[in-house]
Amino acid sequence: MQYPNPAFEAYQGLGMTSQRTRNRLVERLIEKGINDDRVLDTMRIVPRHLFLDEAMSSRSYEDTALPIGYGQTISQPWVVAKMTQWLLESSTPIKKVLEIGTGSGYQTAILSLLADKVYSVERIQALSERAEITLSKLELENIQFSLSDGHWGWPDKAPFDAIISAASPAELPQELINQLRVGGRLVMPIGESRQLLYGFEKTPSKVIETCLGEVMFVPMKSGVEA
Ligand code: SAH
Repeated sequence: MQYPNPAFEAYQGLGMTSQRTRNRLVERLIEKGINDDRVLDTMRIVPRHLFLDEAMSSRSYEDTALPIGYGQTISQPWVVAKMTQWLLESSTPIKKVLEIGTGSGYQTAILSLLADKVYSVERIQALSERAEITLSKLELENIQFSLSDGHWGWPDKAPFDAIISAASPAELPQELINQLRVGGRLVMPIGESRQLLYGFEKTPSKVIETCLGEVMFVPMKSGVEA
């Protein structure tokens, strides 16, 4: 197994958190239709157990969302894979990506290995700080964090080649489309009681919308919690 740096090797885990267990998760993702090798290879090496409480370790490689405290969840691996794959299908290479909802930092780690630079926004200070510590353990250094409300994107760093949100607003925040580069892609859930995953691709003249199916994410809330 080719790890991106020695920290990944050090945190690769044993038993229920071992490389074999991660490989089995990746086999399930393939069965469920994920076929981009860049996504599969990345999910094979990122130690998801590192982003969860010890008590949850043995469930780290189940294909389910799991609690991370503060009423939030780490996203389901299949959803992470599906969204990332959709972003990578773009003809525009991902130099700069904006992530809304850092949460545990798991999706952030995946993006960090696939993009030149990741800008990650979270509204709960404790989660943002914990994710920053976890990601520094993995020596991932191309990530910048912000404690802010993702409805507004990150204007100072725009435009982005890709934007991904793990929180579901009632409707598409127009500001996110504004911060997308022409040729760029945005993937996010939209809706309250019933959520659908949408992909948006910005062309010179319009925004092309694709529905990627029904999903279940936490709601996108307003303001920050310090
Ligand atoms: N990808 C993360 C998902 C965490 S759940 C992971 O796998 O761990 C979604 C996260 O979005 C939560 O941490 C929640 O606090 C955050 N969130 C909700 N509304 C937000 C907003 N307006 N701005 C930034 N983050 C938000």
